[in-house]
Amino acid sequence: MTTQSLKMLKNDIGEVIGLMKSQSPPHHFEFHDPYWVLITTMLSHRTKDPVTDDAARKLRARYIDMNGLAGAPYEDVLKIIEKVGFRNAKARRIIDASKIILEKYGGNVPPSLEELTTIPGVGRKTANVVLSDSFNIPTIAVDTHVQRISVRLGISTSEDPEETERKLMEIVPRELWVGLNPMMVEFGKNVCRPVGPLCGKCLIQKYCDYDIKNKRDKGTGKS
Ligand code: SF4
Repeated sequence: MTTQSLKMLKNDIGEVIGLMKSQSPPHHFEFHDPYWVLITTMLSHRTKDPVTDDAARKLRARYIDMNGLAGAPYEDVLKIIEKVGFRNAKARRIIDASKIILEKYGGNVPPSLEELTTIPGVGRKTANVVLSDSFNIPTIAVDTHVQRISVRLGISTSEDPEETERKLMEIVPRELWVGLNPMMVEFGKNVCRPVGPLCGKCLIQKYCDYDIKNKRDKGTGKS
């Protein structure tokens, strides 16, 4: 990313986000209530969205709420989430998280990053998804899509999602933080794909040097 391109992107960040949004289909939210957003997000790591959503729907149909899931037998939960990645650890963690929220927080998902991240299995990204998508608290969750797009655009040069989150918070106005993650997830699935990004069709290409740099590096054999 040249200094000039980055400067242009920062100056036009509102327009850049608007253009990304125009190329992103609406994100499907399976749930909005904090507890089920938390459980779904805990299940989602390294798992495709339809598999995650299907497992979360089945858990909800079977156990209804955190009281039900907190008392659920591990083997039963494991069977319901059998297609989810890392299912053994996740089955244990969603049961434990339900117990902790019941016992420590009186059955209410705590609306703070500090408290959420004390729950085993809840990292910064998961906590930020819950805060933003359920509580409408301005946060930016950096998952693999947000991380990849931010690096390609030159917003971040770090592989550390927390550093990328800081960089995004520096340049994106606070009123645009809620909804940024789901929008960028869709942009990442549909345009700025992990493999074979559609740079030729991308409406923010003028702000992005990734395609040029990629071709140049291929030409020089650099990786
Ligand atoms: S130009 Fe290509 S790499 Fe840059 S944001 Fe668009 S799709 Fe992604």
